[in-house]
Amino acid sequence: MSARDSAPALPDYVPVPESALGPELNANGYFVDRVQDNLFWVTDGTYQAAFLATTDGVVLFDAPPTIGHNLRRAVDEITAAEDLPNKVTHLVYSHHHADHAGASYLFGDVIRIGHAETQRLLRRDNDRARPAPDVIFDENYTLEVGGSRVELAYHGPNHSPDNIYVQFPDHDTMMQIDIVNIGWVPIYNLNLSEDVPGYLDAPDRAMEYSWTHYLSGHLGRIGTREDVVLHQQYIADIVDSAHAALGSVDPTPYFVRYGENAWAGVAGYLDAVTDQAAAPIIAKYTGVLAAADIPALTTTTTFSILQSIRLDLGGGSQVHP
Ligand SMILES: [Zn+2]
Repeated sequence: MSARDSAPALPDYVPVPESALGPELNANGYFVDRVQDNLFWVTDGTYQAAFLATTDGVVLFDAPPTIGHNLRRAVDEITAAEDLPNKVTHLVYSHHHADHAGASYLFGDVIRIGHAETQRLLRRDNDRARPAPDVIFDENYTLEVGGSRVELAYHGPNHSPDNIYVQFPDHDTMMQIDIVNIGWVPIYNLNLSEDVPGYLDAPDRAMEYSWTHYLSGHLGRIGTREDVVLHQQYIADIVDSAHAALGSVDPTPYFVRYGENAWAGVAGYLDAVTDQAAAPIIAKYTGVLAAADIPALTTTTTFSILQSIRLDLGGGSQVHP
C-alpha cells in the first residue's frame, strides 16, 4: 500500500478570514509587542501570554507550554529594550489547565498567584510543570508590583471551575482566557467548558468592565470590544436556534423505530435536534468567524448548549402524567 493510498481523505475549508489572523512570527516562532504602556503580550499564533515589565521585575500572566522557552526570550527582548530588570518575580495563573500553565516550572521559585480552586486543582493534578500557587484568593485580589496594578476577580465557574478575570485598570486591558477566541469560533463543546451557563455569562461580565484591549489566551491577535460582541452574537444565535429545534423536532419516530433500544432513540433524536440547530449557524458564520465551517466545532458547541438548556434550565422537560 502506498503512502497515497493510506492517506486519509481530508476535507477542504473556506480560507481563514484575514481579520482572524495576527502578525507574523519571528524566526524563533513568537511575536511580542506592547499592549499599552508597560504591559506586553506574546503569541505563537495559537496561544497567548502577557507580562508587565516593571522596575521591580516582571509579572507573567500564564505560561503556555507551546510558547515555552520563547516566554523567556520575549521577556529578555522587551526588558533589554526598555532597560528594565528581566527577572520574573510573579506568575499569575488564569486557571489550572496545562495548555496555559505547563511552562510555569521554567520560571523556578517565583511567587505564584491564583484562585483557591486553582491551588486545589493543581495539588490534585500533581504536575511538576505547574506548581500550585502560594498566594491565593477567593473573590478579589489586587496585585501591585513596581507601581503597576492588576485586579484579579473570580465570578464563578465557566470554562473551568477556577477561571479568573485579569483586569489591568491602568492599561485599559482585560485578560479572560478560553472564553472568546478572537476572530474564531470556540473549539469543541464551547471551548471544552465545564459550566455552560457560566461560560455563556462570562463575555457579558467582561463587557461590564472598562477596557479597550482584550487578551483571550488564543490565536494571533489582541481583541476589541467588537470581537467580543461578534462572539456574543454567534452564541446567542446558537441559543435561539437550539430553542427552536427543541420545539420543532418530533422525538416520536426515533423512539418508535428503535423500541427497547432506548439509547438509540435518544441518540437519534438528540443528533437530529443538534444538526437542525447548528445548520443555520454554520451557514451564517462561515467566512465571518474562522473555522465556523468545521462541522464538529459548531455542532458540538450547539450540543453543549442544547444539553444545558435541557439540564440546567429544564427546557423541553415533561413530567409524566
Ligand atoms: Zn482552559
